Amino acid sequence: MARVGFIGLGNMGGGMAANLAGKGHDVCAFDLSEEALERAGAAGCLPRASAAQACDGAEAVVTMLPAGKHVEGVYAEAVFGNAPALAILIDCSTIDVATAKRVAASATAKGYAMVDAPVSGGIAAANAGTLTFMVGGATEAFDRAEPFLKDMGKAVIHAGAAGTGQAAKICNNMVLGAEMIATCEAFLLAEKLGLDPRKFYDIASVSSGQSWSLTSYAPWPGVGPETPADRDYQGGFATAMMLKDLRLAAAAAASVHADTPMGARAAELYERFSAAGNGALDFSAIIRMLGGRA
Ligand code: NAD
Repeated sequence: MARVGFIGLGNMGGGMAANLAGKGHDVCAFDLSEEALERAGAAGCLPRASAAQACDGAEAVVTMLPAGKHVEGVYAEAVFGNAPALAILIDCSTIDVATAKRVAASATAKGYAMVDAPVSGGIAAANAGTLTFMVGGATEAFDRAEPFLKDMGKAVIHAGAAGTGQAAKICNNMVLGAEMIATCEAFLLAEKLGLDPRKFYDIASVSSGQSWSLTSYAPWPGVGPETPADRDYQGGFATAMMLKDLRLAAAAAASVHADTPMGARAAELYERFSAAGNGALDFSAIIRMLGGRA
């Protein structure tokens, strides 16, 4: 078992750090929020007074922070120089590809091995230790990060060089955003055409319209497995988070002159839905706006 520094103990990081502690690691934890730090202590982590102290003596440092600026700041000010030279640095936050590459390049220049390892799966998967990690970095860095990631997830996949973990994450979520909107449209159209939406579900779920948004996460209540649609769109994957990822995808597409018309349209629609005060609702709640009910 190892000493792990963990910085960022919010909705996702709290559960992830607790799982590492549950696997027997000494998890030296830090968050700017006192409340988050106390929760981590109650879950078996060892609270520290600063990010730098959390890195002290660590064999691995894991960060789970809101956005690129937080990641860049924490690595520059607290991780580099305080984590031992042999520590493996693992950033699990979802951030822009350019910042991920820049921080990885700084780490390499300072002699550290680092990976970007964003996750698929929300708060429930973080708590249950069933996240999927998509990992960018050199093979040697991936090999060192993998055992720690396995202690927090069900799948760990090496995507390629630094930054490709973030690329995988935003490409995946761009598909998801566009696919959810298309699924919502189809349910609404089926109903208007006199086709019972539950019958549409039965047919499309075994036909070529089948998708994760349809059969695992249906935006229509009462069909398929239980989803946020059955709980008035509470919980699940927040609209604000989906919008964040679609914005990252749009910025990444612009940076390489890629044409992503469906991703761009999905971002516009989620922008409108979020601006109307729905940022905290599950992202499948966009069916309300598409059906003229938001
Ligand atoms: P969150 O806001 O709940 O947690 C972020 C934590 O980071 C907060 O507790 C905050 O206090 C802390 N923090 C910010 N700056 C800090 C600093 N300088 N030093 C120490 N702590 C600092 O966010 P979250 O939902 O846990 O998401 C974290 C990351 O995971 C984001 O990049 C998000 O996009 C990604 N993600 C979230 C979900 C989800 O469903 N919530 C799913 C997949 C990926």
